[in-house]
Amino acid sequence: MNYELALVPGDGIGPDVVGESMKVLEAVGRKYGHTFHATTYPLGGCSIDTYGVPMTDEVLKACQKSDSVLLGAVGGPKWDHVDSSIRPEKALLGLRKGLGLFCNLRPALMYPQLKGACPLKDEIVGDGLDIMVVRELTGGIYFGKRGTTADGAFDTMEYSRMEIERIVRKGFEIAMKRHKRLCSVDKANILASSQLWRSIVESMAKEYPEVAVSHLYVDNASMQLVRNPRQFDVIVTCNMFGDILSDEASQITGSIGMLPSASLGVGTKGMYEPIHGSAPDIAGKNIANPLATILSVAMMLRYSFSLEKEAKAIEDAVGKTLDDGYRTTDIYSDGMKKVGTREMGDLVKERV
Ligand code: NAD
Repeated sequence: MNYELALVPGDGIGPDVVGESMKVLEAVGRKYGHTFHATTYPLGGCSIDTYGVPMTDEVLKACQKSDSVLLGAVGGPKWDHVDSSIRPEKALLGLRKGLGLFCNLRPALMYPQLKGACPLKDEIVGDGLDIMVVRELTGGIYFGKRGTTADGAFDTMEYSRMEIERIVRKGFEIAMKRHKRLCSVDKANILASSQLWRSIVESMAKEYPEVAVSHLYVDNASMQLVRNPRQFDVIVTCNMFGDILSDEASQITGSIGMLPSASLGVGTKGMYEPIHGSAPDIAGKNIANPLATILSVAMMLRYSFSLEKEAKAIEDAVGKTLDDGYRTTDIYSDGMKKVGTREMGDLVKERV
């Protein structure tokens, strides 16, 4: 098969890590007989420098036409003081909106080889963590009516039935592809939108009898994530709770340079990116860990192209590289072999 990709490396370490991911993707293409044709576009600060805006209409159109988008990261101190209407992050919001991406997938996977980086006790982590947070991305309090009054301010949390149904369905579908356990997180003891959310989860559960469904209030869920994270398989939740819980879940794995993410819409197109930022402090120094972006490519193969075998080949190659003792600086510990960004990309590519 032929796939058309839009590459938006962005700023800082974005180009470093996206470059390594493409080496790995090309190796997958050669091994399994696919062609991944990638075109690179400017986004974020580098686009502001050239075009005066963080994303041009042409770039949005190209991303819309592509089969999927691979993003590095945007932003950096150089653009911290530009006018708020053209800040680099505006490009991310514009892309999500322009591509209709309403579902954010954030796996929190702890490799047993990196157990030392996990801030939790051994007996809590056991032989590893593998949680998928499914976060609603385009509704809820971040997009509701807000304002200030004479002596206060307000934000509104609003969800339509359709917005809840489509994200909850994604949660069930992803649970079906994993360990068939879905935990819906809400605040249904207080919020009306959460009560609707919970009732939709309960009625949709009848369509997925194989999935074990549970509900947690968000305050309890945040506690359970550090007390007993192994109870979770898939967590589905609204925009704000997902924002907070996915960061918490990723921190308990201990390594920001290891975590991928995906944003999906109705069709198969998605946007894939590491969860870390542009790390300007280490940009262009051959230090950045490219594994989060390489693992984002694996998510692209799985969720946009349904190439499970190929996705697994990348994930296995990453596991093997760690087994063989290779580490970038951020995940290095005594006795391991320290390598740079490019070497890490080559090692994974060879193992694919
Ligand atoms: P960051 O994730 O860029 O960096 C935090 C720390 O983690 C830094 O010490 C950095 O060196 C390290 N780090 C991050 N990724 C790494 C990797 N792959 N390998 C090794 N070390 C890594 O977060 P920040 O410093 O808060 O933000 C820097 C810039 O990135 C800001 O301009 C911010 O707005 C932007 N940002 C962009 C995105 C995005 O594009 N999605 C997300 C978060 C932050």
